[in-house]
Amino acid sequence: MINEPHLSPKGTGWIEVIAGCMFSGKTDELIRRLRRAEIAKQKVIVFKPSIDNRYSNRNIVSHNEQSLPSVTITDPQQMIELSVDFQVVGVDEAQFFGNGLVDTANFLADKGKRVIIAGLDMDYKAVPFEPMPQLLAVAEYITKTLAICVVCGNPADRTQRKSFSSERVLVGAAESYEARCRKCHFIQTED
Ligand code: ZN
Repeated sequence: MINEPHLSPKGTGWIEVIAGCMFSGKTDELIRRLRRAEIAKQKVIVFKPSIDNRYSNRNIVSHNEQSLPSVTITDPQQMIELSVDFQVVGVDEAQFFGNGLVDTANFLADKGKRVIIAGLDMDYKAVPFEPMPQLLAVAEYITKTLAICVVCGNPADRTQRKSFSSERVLVGAAESYEARCRKCHFIQTED
């Protein structure tokens, strides 16, 4: 599996997407790749959406408490100006950016940058979460991270919401969710 092509290709940028459910290690994997790029003396910048201010306003933080300094933005367009001097551009919680992230990621990759994007690929109803489907389509390299189903121990690709709410996103409420496999995942209704 080519999931870390930091030594190649040459002379061009590209997009890597790390997609998965909650608790699958997406942010850990993003941080791992960015740290290795830093060790390789590449200039790295990481963005996260302003909606996600759990744990820290200035870092991306995984459930494992790994963290890396990050820049909080509201519009993916801001990445273009802010990443001019950087070779590697990371994005966490990509599902909270709109579809504008797709054009921005393509623009940065076209400019020769390595763009690494982590995000939830499905919402709590197991419906694909834009713009992840579009990002997966335009990326050169894709990694799907799996969690462990808390019910049966199988690999898990779904996020189970433990309490009823029809909001698509409950930010910063990790305790309201758990990882489930296809068989154990269900959608709660009001009654
Ligand atoms: Zn299960």
